[in-house]
Amino acid sequence: MASEQSLFIGGESVPALDGRTTDDLNPYTGEVHAVVAAGGPADVTRAVDAAQEAFARWSGTSPSTRRAVLLRAADLLEARAPEVVRLMAAEVGGVAGWAGFNVGLAANVLRESAAAVTQPVGEVLTTETEGQLSMAIREPLGVVAAFAPWNAPIILSTRAVAAPIAAGNTVVLKPSEDAPIAAGLFIAGVLHEAGLPAGVLNVVTNAPADAAAVATALISDPRVRAVNFTGSTEVGRTIGTLAAQHLKPAVLELGGKNALLVLDDADLGHAVDAATFGSFHNSGQICMSTDRVLVHRSIAEEFTARLAAKVASLPHGDPADPGTVFGPVINPRAAARVSALVEEAVAAGARRRTEGDGPTVLDRVTPDMRIFREEIFGPAVVVVPVADDDEAVAIANDTEHGLTAGILTEDTRRGLALARRIRTGIVHVGNQTVDDEPQAPFGGVKSSGYGRFGGRWGVEAFSATRWVTIAAGPGHFPY
Ligand code: NAD
Repeated sequence: MASEQSLFIGGESVPALDGRTTDDLNPYTGEVHAVVAAGGPADVTRAVDAAQEAFARWSGTSPSTRRAVLLRAADLLEARAPEVVRLMAAEVGGVAGWAGFNVGLAANVLRESAAAVTQPVGEVLTTETEGQLSMAIREPLGVVAAFAPWNAPIILSTRAVAAPIAAGNTVVLKPSEDAPIAAGLFIAGVLHEAGLPAGVLNVVTNAPADAAAVATALISDPRVRAVNFTGSTEVGRTIGTLAAQHLKPAVLELGGKNALLVLDDADLGHAVDAATFGSFHNSGQICMSTDRVLVHRSIAEEFTARLAAKVASLPHGDPADPGTVFGPVINPRAAARVSALVEEAVAAGARRRTEGDGPTVLDRVTPDMRIFREEIFGPAVVVVPVADDDEAVAIANDTEHGLTAGILTEDTRRGLALARRIRTGIVHVGNQTVDDEPQAPFGGVKSSGYGRFGGRWGVEAFSATRWVTIAAGPGHFPY
């Protein structure tokens, strides 16, 4: 039986004002997993009303109160892990290991945000005016608009709201239509149960056709003071433009075209394991997924053969089966897009190194193929032999994106020298491209977006720094 889900506004579950609903589908079975309220612009206004009303009180709560809520939510989330495993299998096709990783990292995002609330909120400055006290003070902004995608739904919905809330803001969250529960309603329920006051976090779910209208209503509402969006570069450009039109700061966490460099001194067994994980974890549907493996020519053939054999040996299929390593892609549109990228490349001369309809390893790709340039965001990877380190760096940088990179070598000095030449927001020497820790700055450069989540960078992104002075006595003026 499909569950029924409402909007979450002012601490209450409410239907859309016009009573409309939308279907939330199971990507593996194609069946309706849940029937969800289809909010529209009027519901957005209601949610912003609630967030605005809650702001004065929430921004004034003591740090220990805020910290207690966030820490309780982290524990509650972990206690509900079995529920998340079922939810992610049914709603986004996520396998158990991916769901468990979502819970663990999201709980730590909450804990990191809890730690931030007792950090100093400013600095005392030197001043030209004798006796004056001059300070830089960080203050919350107000209502924050947050957009979370479906692919790592628990992590990315938590990330979208935790730092803003910790910094004293209130939030209206719009989850992806592919994961209205896992990327929105679920974390709101957890935080509410943990004692988050009504109105501090509100969730507006919507039908796919209403995405633009809902986003526009939210970002253009004058009470909304900042935006964060995690999703594709294409939609991120629209969101960023809208935010700029209304002169609102935005954190944009967008797509990647991440390269893994395998140098000629790399441990081949480790490189194969790392590339399999980096490319195919969550069936390649991670913004940090390895899209391109750039491997030194001397080891390219052996590496590619072993990678293809390993990938083909891992079970794929039903995400609810605990033995499954690779689940389905999110929807038929995504499946068609990924298979078109692969088929077009094969038709143009690329070689398929894996058989059947499972995860795909390709080589003999060329820069004119779409799969060489566009984000794959699915279970496929291309292996590109390179002559030397310089060519590896040149190809790694030959993309509009700049999210992450990985460099596999036994020589860390050589790895670091290459890392400095690759234009990404994140780079890992001795590891593949997928990694995320709540205390580290997370974000991209170029078309992968701007702004950073994580640690103090996340808190600063949702705060305003204000200059405050207190004069020691009457001032002296020239006239
Ligand atoms: P998406 O951009 O297709 O969808 C994101 C959201 O945009 C959805 O909720 C949708 O409702 C909304 N949307 C669609 N059209 C809109 C419009 N015209 N105006 C306003 N809003 C609109 O992304 P997705 O499929 O949910 O996620 C996959 C993408 O997200 C990939 O590109 C991936 O790399 C990226 N991603 C990035 C990060 C990161 O941290 N950098 C993390 C996860 C995913």
